[in-house]
Amino acid sequence: MTALVSATGLTKHFAVRGGSFLRRHTTALRAVDGVDLQIRSGETLGLVGESGCGKSTLGRLLIRLIEPTGGRIDFDGHEITGLSTKAMRQHRRAMQIIFQDPYGALNPRMSVEDIIMEPLLIHGARADAATRAKVAEALRLVGLPARAAQRFPHEFSGGQRQRVGIARALVLNPKFVVCDEPVSALDVSVQAQIVNLLQDLQKELGLTFLFIAHDLSVVKHISDRVAVMYLGKVVEVAEKHAIYSAPQHPYTQALIAAVPVLRPQDRARGRRVRIAGDIPSALNPPSGCRFHTRCPHVMPICRVQEPALTEPAPAHHVACHLVNPV
Ligand code: SF4
Ligand code: MG
Repeated sequence: MTALVSATGLTKHFAVRGGSFLRRHTTALRAVDGVDLQIRSGETLGLVGESGCGKSTLGRLLIRLIEPTGGRIDFDGHEITGLSTKAMRQHRRAMQIIFQDPYGALNPRMSVEDIIMEPLLIHGARADAATRAKVAEALRLVGLPARAAQRFPHEFSGGQRQRVGIARALVLNPKFVVCDEPVSALDVSVQAQIVNLLQDLQKELGLTFLFIAHDLSVVKHISDRVAVMYLGKVVEVAEKHAIYSAPQHPYTQALIAAVPVLRPQDRARGRRVRIAGDIPSALNPPSGCRFHTRCPHVMPICRVQEPALTEPAPAHHVACHLVNPV
């Protein structure tokens, strides 16, 4: 299968100011740090890792919602890094995003019809009958009644609001959709409905998904392949069954073995998985392998040399000195 989206050495460092009044300095927060990743046409690639490891930043970089500080992105056979706003326009509608918080992402003062229509207007459509028909079709696709168009976000449940968010993302007929924790903020009972809806839409419309989640069970359900991120790096990528039944990277092994934290207050904060030790700061990541401060298999080389992402088995990529001895 060919790659629809491809990242090469993709990097995003945010400048963070620190220091005192007398000694100001700027540090780089290395949110995404040299990521190579391919997303195949028609697949769902799950992207997992603890909160703060750079998943959302990577998703936003791939569709150029934010600008990289290094590396390259190819979309549908074209390099899109560095394209001007005008040149990006033709690609922009083909790459959309569904956000985690369906309430925060929708303007409370706009009707559902206006919310879904807005991307069409931005891309040059007029608010006429043909455009309204596209909105009605988008509502139908996500399983909302036509009369929902005249209502406002606060009149809907969380699950219905996420359906509005999905309709807004799909109304431009995209090829690639970044789903950034689209069910994390929803009740467990509603999560499965939204995941099933996304799967049905993918089949019906031939979509390609990057599905970001910290909940490994959701990713297991929806993904074809899974990529694991740790502190701005992709540390393992493989077919779903290989990730879950034969994980190679110690971090992936820890994620899968981690006992789910079932306290609702933790789940709401995105802390379902717990691994020994704290995640180090992306402001000053550990030398060598970034996982070395928490890895049960750490060796001397791990502290000094960063492991490259290599392919020890076909289509299974791992960045670890255990798997790829130096
Ligand atoms: Fe652990 Fe070393 Fe592998 Fe990093 S490179 S995951 S520290 S064994
Ligand atoms: Mg996130």
